[in-house]
Amino acid sequence: MAEPNVTQAVPRVAREPSDRTRQTVTISVVVPCFNEQEVLHETHRQLSAALESLDRCNCEIIFVDDGSRDATPVILRSLAAADPRVKAVFLSRNFGHQIAVTAGIDFAAGDVVVLIDADLQDPPAVIAEMLDAWRAGADVAYGQRRTRSGESTFKLATAKLFYRLLDRLSEVRIPMDTGDFRLMDRQVVEALRKMPERHRFIRGMVAWVGFSQVPIPYDRESRFAGTTKYPFARMLRFAVDGLTAFSVVPLRLATWFGFSAACIALVGILYALVSRLLTDQWVPGWAATFIAILFMAGAQLLCIGVIGEYLGRLVTEAKGRPLYLVSQVAGRTRER
Ligand code: UDP
Ligand code: MG
Repeated sequence: MAEPNVTQAVPRVAREPSDRTRQTVTISVVVPCFNEQEVLHETHRQLSAALESLDRCNCEIIFVDDGSRDATPVILRSLAAADPRVKAVFLSRNFGHQIAVTAGIDFAAGDVVVLIDADLQDPPAVIAEMLDAWRAGADVAYGQRRTRSGESTFKLATAKLFYRLLDRLSEVRIPMDTGDFRLMDRQVVEALRKMPERHRFIRGMVAWVGFSQVPIPYDRESRFAGTTKYPFARMLRFAVDGLTAFSVVPLRLATWFGFSAACIALVGILYALVSRLLTDQWVPGWAATFIAILFMAGAQLLCIGVIGEYLGRLVTEAKGRPLYLVSQVAGRTRER
């Protein structure tokens, strides 16, 4: 009898773990770079060393220049000229970290793709552990931060709060204390490439995809050199992107506010009726009116703001512009 013709969003090729242990794998490492001139030579050195130590692996390193204004493009061009494993993709302007990673993924030809920051906060040596997990059958091996050195108390506290809040609100379980440092099987990469959204929260999107995912605990280092490219305003925007992409609970704020206001109003009405009808201590009470108006106006503006956040994202998604534009590519292009 013929096989039923089942169409799946992502074709799942049955691949036994033993298959993975036998084959020589091609590994693509994607490194987003924005003004990283101070670290790039060292990043290339440490990444190369880590990749050379891997057993039965061909590798390529894809640096994505996200519209840097320093010597990053010059350094990337020289690295691509000197090392045949290096490819450099130059975006036409700064599109942001998550989009730069997306561009790198689109250019990656490997059986597995590793995402790693340029600043050596994610130790390249951990890639070996991730690859072992993949060979043992995992489709995603994501780095989970055991410790984080070199970050401000403020950043640590807000990140902790954010991931707990996201966990409460999101319908998808997004692992806590993870960044984008991870290794993904080709199937997961192809699934990700089918997700066209502009406001990207890649760690959440990978969680949404499913497949088998395992954490690899690691200690996050301080930046090797240079300064963070995520100032507070950008971090906040990224957090709102994550929340709005994975939860519509904030949209329901209006309903909750309305419900609580109605309950409070009911008590107020009863109080007003009782004092008007049964006592002779009826005072105009402007303070209560004033507070109620201020509270309601605040609540309404907040709700409108929340709706605006979602609406704004809808508008940019609806335009359907390309996620990024490439101005140039340096280095050998692998064909898949
Ligand atoms: N990055 C990027 N485009 C941006 C901002 C950052 O490609 O607009 C890159 C940056 O070069 C680094 C990674 O994203 O490789 C993470 O940025 P950063 O280390 O500054 O963030 P932090 O670790 O401080 O959160
Ligand atoms: Mg960093």
